[in-house]
Amino acid sequence: MKPHPPLEVHAYNDHTYILRENLCATFEAPFMYLLVGSSKALLIDTGDVADPKRMPLAQTVMRLLPGEGASKMPLIVVHTHGHLDHRAGDPQFEHLPGATVVYADLDHVRSYFHFADWPNGLAQVDLGGRIIDVLPVPGHYPSHIAFYDRTTGLFFSGDFFLPGRLLIDDTAEDQASAKRVVDFVANRPVSQVLGGHVEMDRAGNTFPFGSTYHPGERALPMSKADLLRLPAILDGFNGLYAEHDGFTIIHQPHEMMALGVAALVILVLAIALVVWLVRRWKRARRRRALALA
Ligand SMILES: [Zn+2]
Ligand SMILES: [Zn+2]
Repeated sequence: MKPHPPLEVHAYNDHTYILRENLCATFEAPFMYLLVGSSKALLIDTGDVADPKRMPLAQTVMRLLPGEGASKMPLIVVHTHGHLDHRAGDPQFEHLPGATVVYADLDHVRSYFHFADWPNGLAQVDLGGRIIDVLPVPGHYPSHIAFYDRTTGLFFSGDFFLPGRLLIDDTAEDQASAKRVVDFVANRPVSQVLGGHVEMDRAGNTFPFGSTYHPGERALPMSKADLLRLPAILDGFNGLYAEHDGFTIIHQPHEMMALGVAALVILVLAIALVVWLVRRWKRARRRRALALA
């Protein structure tokens, strides 16, 4: 059997590429997006694998860009958010001529896109005849942003919204972001909503976490209607764990806390059991000694 290429490249059209790290290279199998304008290109996310020998991301992206040598089209590397599975490939671009890496922490995101009133307001990136809107969507991650391409109507939602687990770091922020996104897309055409991962099969079942095998994996695109449902999906979230409309919603810090408490309770019970068994054994030994005396 031929080994899978580590990086899959799908041309959505002549100027738009969907890239994905193969499940065999990383269970995260994140998606990355390359949008090419007439003067600049934008790469959204750099994936989960740093080593260029294992994951030739920069090499592949540069090959897709127009121009040769010094006339290669300039590239801006941005991120939906700062989780490592979306930025591990950054070092591959850091010393590349013509490439600018916008780091994913809140300070860099705010200053590069000139967000004066984060998380309110919008920013734009002009790639030359192709304008990309940038929207703050914190909730999964404090500096999470989403991108809307006016040319194709594609909406890039990262881990804020994807077919699978919606991991929430801050419920109130996430709910507010969902409302802002709905306001934003209400009067705009959205052809497809593309997230950072696919974690669901075609029947709507979520694959186990960490799985490197996705039988019957559903397609990547979600619809504008799916996105419009997000506030309702998040409304009434109990702040710990919920399943709604095929989406699994998990508040990670709270879940970790609950797991921690559960582990502590089990530990205390285990210690109490050992103490009780030891006492019982000592009592039995004493009784036996008395009987022999
Ligand atoms: Zn994430
Ligand atoms: Zn992710």
